[in-house]
Amino acid sequence: MAELEGFEFGKSDFVLLDEVTMEQFLENLKLRFEKGRIYTFIGEVVVSVNPYRQMDVYGKDAIDAYRGRELYENPPHLYAVADAAYKAMKRRAKDTCIVISGESGAGKTEASKYIMQYIAAITNPSQRAEVESVKNVLLKSNCVLEAFGNAKTNRNDNSSRFGKYMDINFNFNGDPTGGHINNYLLEKSRVVQQQEGERNFHSFYQLLRGGSDELLKSLHLSKDPTDYTYTSPGASVSTSSSDDRSCHRAVMGALKVIGFSEEEVSSVYKILSTILHLGNLHFETDGESVQVVGGDSVRHISELTDTEPESVNKALLYRTVATGGGEVIEKGHSEQEASYGRDAFAKALYERLFAWIVGRINSVIEVKNYNPALHGKNTVIGVLDIYGFEIFDNNSFEQFCINYCNEKLQQLFIELILRQEQEEYHREGITWQHIDYFNNQIIVDLVEQPHKGIISILDEACLTAGKVTDTVCLDSMNHKLGQHPHYTSRKLNPTDKSMEFHRHFRIRHYAGDVTYSVEGFLDKNKDPLFQDFKRLMYNSSDPVLKEMWPDGQLSITEVTKRPLTAATLFKNSIIALVDKLACKEPYYVRCIKPNEVKSPMLFDDARCRHQVAYLGLLENVRVRRAGFAYRQPYERFLQRYKMTCEYTWPNHLMSSDREAVEAIVVQHGFEGDVAYGHTKLFVRTPRSLFTLEQERAAL
Ligand code: ATP
Ligand code: MG
Repeated sequence: MAELEGFEFGKSDFVLLDEVTMEQFLENLKLRFEKGRIYTFIGEVVVSVNPYRQMDVYGKDAIDAYRGRELYENPPHLYAVADAAYKAMKRRAKDTCIVISGESGAGKTEASKYIMQYIAAITNPSQRAEVESVKNVLLKSNCVLEAFGNAKTNRNDNSSRFGKYMDINFNFNGDPTGGHINNYLLEKSRVVQQQEGERNFHSFYQLLRGGSDELLKSLHLSKDPTDYTYTSPGASVSTSSSDDRSCHRAVMGALKVIGFSEEEVSSVYKILSTILHLGNLHFETDGESVQVVGGDSVRHISELTDTEPESVNKALLYRTVATGGGEVIEKGHSEQEASYGRDAFAKALYERLFAWIVGRINSVIEVKNYNPALHGKNTVIGVLDIYGFEIFDNNSFEQFCINYCNEKLQQLFIELILRQEQEEYHREGITWQHIDYFNNQIIVDLVEQPHKGIISILDEACLTAGKVTDTVCLDSMNHKLGQHPHYTSRKLNPTDKSMEFHRHFRIRHYAGDVTYSVEGFLDKNKDPLFQDFKRLMYNSSDPVLKEMWPDGQLSITEVTKRPLTAATLFKNSIIALVDKLACKEPYYVRCIKPNEVKSPMLFDDARCRHQVAYLGLLENVRVRRAGFAYRQPYERFLQRYKMTCEYTWPNHLMSSDREAVEAIVVQHGFEGDVAYGHTKLFVRTPRSLFTLEQERAAL
């Protein structure tokens, strides 16, 4: 068993702070980080600081030390939370989930991988082949999803550009039988444009740099990312942590293990190549008509997508429109419209490819033929690795969606932690003390309320015929939300010069104020794609491609005029996610990024303070301290600590386990720190338990 730490490494649970202040919190976090203790508890929550170096704490010894143990029996660790979630699932047949949050580069994805590795390591002791194969696919799926969903950004060399929620299913033995992955809001704008110093998705560079000569030749690609408009700006950006060539091999291997057929893998690479060729097209006009310019690109695209070159050409230059009188006509694009259409098509190709890959992995790991009557209840552990709160210099539609998602998760966090506590205290007959906390429902409503919320106002603007601009939409928000305590803008607050009149609005989020620039909101929300591209893809002879574009079979007169907008689709997916999480017992990992320069040495006070504030960690400690941080059935408590008390060792003569537990508590003088429930002992702070643990170890 791993040694319990002394206080020279700081306090291993923030509940033990003398006072719950930001200063004390940061001091403890910093001390622990500097001593190489990257994990700290707040009760059952693990706070993790990215070490930016390889830590020797994930090996087999550590796995053995945490397996089947209670949280406070070992130093804080991801494995402790993983084990707690697993135990609750196995012993009590509870569905559980582990929610990992934090800003970009804080270590969420690494944490989720360690958690999955832990679960894989402690399950299937008898090495049954079918369980091993499920585990293998679950682990390998990370490699594929990272290749297609991650990119180098200025904040993280391997930044996940999508949110991910993975359910792992277990049989009555506690062995994995399958799983399901949901992905959220892939940042598809990256396909056509990246900020300076950033790259496109890894997959493109991996293919170009790692693909065999033969493969690249068949795709009409060179080896050089500077040859392609979409990958050229990021071509010279170095990534210290990944080598595109070896990653390409790993992805090919993973696709095979997961069960992608050769044809499917080939289709995936053809789509990537199509996107690269599309990016190299541009448009010219002689004043009358618009032409495609770009060498052989159209020919390559038609070959790679199994469509006719004339059809590709036509889809790039014309759109079919239905006139008011029901007539269908073809309308030529302007140069600008054609370029816009090309980029929208490239983004949609990538988004659908990513969704298809996730779906394909799901089809392999989905639980088949599970018979509860035969196999017992099928239980689940969910792992959520999703973008944290974002405040940039320039915040746009993406940040708006991401921050809304964080409001929803915060709401769930408050509700679940408080509700769960209340229910348990009630069950056990313990008096509940009311805890004051900020309920952020009001901000959630500001965003999502039907008719009145920001998303509704955006949608209305998108559906209005004619030219509604971002500015008009901002006016409408100002008009409808002027009274809302969490919404403001320059018009409503003319003295605030940090905002511009026709550009900005500000939301007072639970984590802080964020000023959004409304530019591009409507276009990103409407996310239009000409039906002609959809039809082109649906008519492809490549079955994989065709499968990705079922909506291409609709003719222009059948196409719905009111497709769901991006914000509404996102909102619906987040509401569904919250519903999924709400019926599970939650465990939390809160990740903190210690500095902006990826240094293992530097603890940037200001940056950490900011994160502690918006993760709501102080509030979390207060809630924990107001209640009872730990609880244990009398019998188990007695078994573990009976040797520390003369009245209970080796056996007690009292009439119940509860009385025996009282004897232990009294002998150690903890009366003020506990409460007695019907079946469990409740302990307010971990101090008492640590003392008992140390005494036990010293015997
Ligand atoms: P994003 O939101 O951008 O996806 P993230 O929170 O998922 O960010 P990670 O990709 O998990 O961040 O971590 C960023 C980098 O930090 C990793 O590539 C790795 O170099 C380092 N890192 C994170 N956690 C650990 C760890 N436990 N041990 C060693 N290095 C780590
Ligand atoms: Mg990540």
